[in-house]
Amino acid sequence: MRLRILSGLGVLAAAAFLTGCDSQPSTVKLTDTKSDAVAKLKATRAAKTKAAAKVKANELGQIPVLMFHRIVPKPATTDDRSPQQFRADLERLVREDYVPITAAQMVSGKIDIPAGKHPVVLTFDDSSPSQLTLNEVGVPQKDTAVAILKEVAAAHPGWRPAATFYVTRDMFGKTGAEEQAQTLGWLKDNGFEIGNHTRDHLNLRGRPQKDVEEQIGSIAQQIKSLSGVNPTTIALPYGNQPRNKDWALHGKFYNHQGAFLAGYTPAPAPFSKAFDPAGIPRIKVMEKKGDCAQFCSDAWLDWLKNNPDMRYTSDGDVGTVAYPKFKAPYLRKSFATWSLPY
Ligand SMILES: [Zn+2]
Repeated sequence: MRLRILSGLGVLAAAAFLTGCDSQPSTVKLTDTKSDAVAKLKATRAAKTKAAAKVKANELGQIPVLMFHRIVPKPATTDDRSPQQFRADLERLVREDYVPITAAQMVSGKIDIPAGKHPVVLTFDDSSPSQLTLNEVGVPQKDTAVAILKEVAAAHPGWRPAATFYVTRDMFGKTGAEEQAQTLGWLKDNGFEIGNHTRDHLNLRGRPQKDVEEQIGSIAQQIKSLSGVNPTTIALPYGNQPRNKDWALHGKFYNHQGAFLAGYTPAPAPFSKAFDPAGIPRIKVMEKKGDCAQFCSDAWLDWLKNNPDMRYTSDGDVGTVAYPKFKAPYLRKSFATWSLPY
């Protein structure tokens, strides 16, 4: 009987011991989970690196920022494109695996496009009616820039009609505040970026800071009051920077992450040391003719196609900056934690 009790206690003690032990394995389990997580992270990183190498990702490569003005049936200057030409410009970008992003996405490094694709920034200066005119129910008029952008996007699933419109007081030809609000509101609601192109389109070179701030700040306030948007990028009239280039970025009524010029090369990636937010080059859209034989869009798109190692190619992951290891010295330090060399 006594023995039985003792053995009974023994069983209880053993049970208690086992229960006590239960917390022990959970600690072991935690450690296991931690090393599992580390192993998992390593495996994920290895998989990402492999995937980046497979598509030859180069997120330190160059990005074409294309500069458009009017889209009109009878181009009057070399800045104009006809609707037919503009369609062909876009079709070429589709064929060559470019996907549009906005200027704001570019300068902030949010280049969220599929693996193996190249970003392109489509910019439209001077807010002319040929870029955007809406009918009474808010549908873009045929052959305007936005209508063509939407058509091409609809014909090519996955290709998005992102673009940036640099606005002056011309406001797409609208003079009443209500119509101006409708037009800017439409851009905002349809995912287009509204940028600053100064109020009066004056050459800012050599002007005093007060004038520069007035030209940029007054249109910024007008855009804000009409649409609620604070522009995050600016295109400088004639591509001319003010005496202090920082005046274009920061002023009393504006705070820009990027200022765009008017010529003549593809732009460095925002992750590259070569990137200067106060002076981002753009490319005029034109065939290889005259001055455009080398420095406009057809010539540069040919060059980027023939020099794929110089062109920005995405790894499809917006959270990493993937590039061939050899290019590592060009990575800006602020992006070191995102880096994925291979
Ligand atoms: Zn302009």
